[in-house]
Amino acid sequence: MTEEEIAVINDYWKLSDDISTVFQYTLKQIDDKHKPNKVRPVRFLAKKSVFVFPHNLLTCQECDCNIPVINRRDLINRINSEEKITCSDCVDRGLQRILDGANQIVNEYRAEKFAPIAYLNNLAVEELLVLLSITTEYTENNAFLGMSPDDVIITGIQMIDKNIVLSLIDKKALVYIPEVPFNVERASNVIYSLSNITFNNTVQYWPSESVYPGIYVNSLALDRGEEVSDISQILYQKLQSLILSVDDVVKIHQIIKETQIGKLYELVREIAKEYQIEIDNSNILGGLIEHVAGNYSPMKIYYTFRVKAWDTLAYLYKDSVSGYRAKHIFTASVRNYIQYIEDKGFELKKSWTLPQHIRASSFEALFSRLYLDGHFDWNRLSAKAVVALWLENVRLEEGAQELLAKEGQNSTE
Ligand SMILES: [Zn+2]
Repeated sequence: MTEEEIAVINDYWKLSDDISTVFQYTLKQIDDKHKPNKVRPVRFLAKKSVFVFPHNLLTCQECDCNIPVINRRDLINRINSEEKITCSDCVDRGLQRILDGANQIVNEYRAEKFAPIAYLNNLAVEELLVLLSITTEYTENNAFLGMSPDDVIITGIQMIDKNIVLSLIDKKALVYIPEVPFNVERASNVIYSLSNITFNNTVQYWPSESVYPGIYVNSLALDRGEEVSDISQILYQKLQSLILSVDDVVKIHQIIKETQIGKLYELVREIAKEYQIEIDNSNILGGLIEHVAGNYSPMKIYYTFRVKAWDTLAYLYKDSVSGYRAKHIFTASVRNYIQYIEDKGFELKKSWTLPQHIRASSFEALFSRLYLDGHFDWNRLSAKAVVALWLENVRLEEGAQELLAKEGQNSTE
């Protein structure tokens, strides 16, 4: 900017006297006055200037610093509005104070709710496995797992998951916060909305500093009281050192069996949809599924289901059966076939890949990694085979060994 242009700007801001807010020149007068110097128009030059004007309505109400005006209209508007204003530094400082206060409230609440507790030795084997599959999946401290005990999915079998989650809450390995006190909720909302401002309006749905109702992983303390930073590692070590009782084996066996049964029911639904056949959810189907879940892999059963679904379709078409009888043909057909191969001592040889949506749960994936060398999931194994592989990789109490040996004899008789 040249000296002449600076003179233009000075004229732009020049007041007619020291007390009024009337400008000495109109814009046209300024342009006319400076025309001989070949300067750019005042409208253009004024855009690049700000003006500090000593007036109590133009200073910050907190720190008294001067807040510059950016053009004549701004100056007049601000004086006419008669409102005291705050400078951006003071606004920032104010927001920071509010944020600090909110953080303090939330942090104190978190410290109280997530006080490290030495719960490790109270956990049963299935609880250790469930907690390890949770901490492997959600690695951050005090991870949010769901709104209520019904929402936490671990094995995918709702009854099992809910019971274990309730027991883990009872033993303080998980923390259930059904509702947060009003002041904490307000503080969380403050943190939430201020973080949205702070981070350029990129929406942050769950700032980790806030606390909302839900189920969380608690902090773990060792017996000496010190907090554990890597819970997964401690859980893993604990699992490795366990010597299992009959009760432990029964519980894990149950989870494995229920999981495989759950998959087979999913497959029946899948078959019914794909082949458009009605399959009655009868006791006979229940008994059949329980039997095949124990003895065959879901992939082999799925292949058998598909073949028998074709047979069912052919039968329905040929004999035009309908109503009650039609709903039982698929189940009867699978049942007869399984009985036939078992009577003859044959095996199910062929497999069919399970549909994409029947995925291994986090529990199943972890269990497979820990105990089933080379298997990613339980889809290629019967429930009995999963249990047998697992038992090869754990240590058992003497009583449990004897009992299992006896059971083994019985089942081969
Ligand atoms: Zn200020």
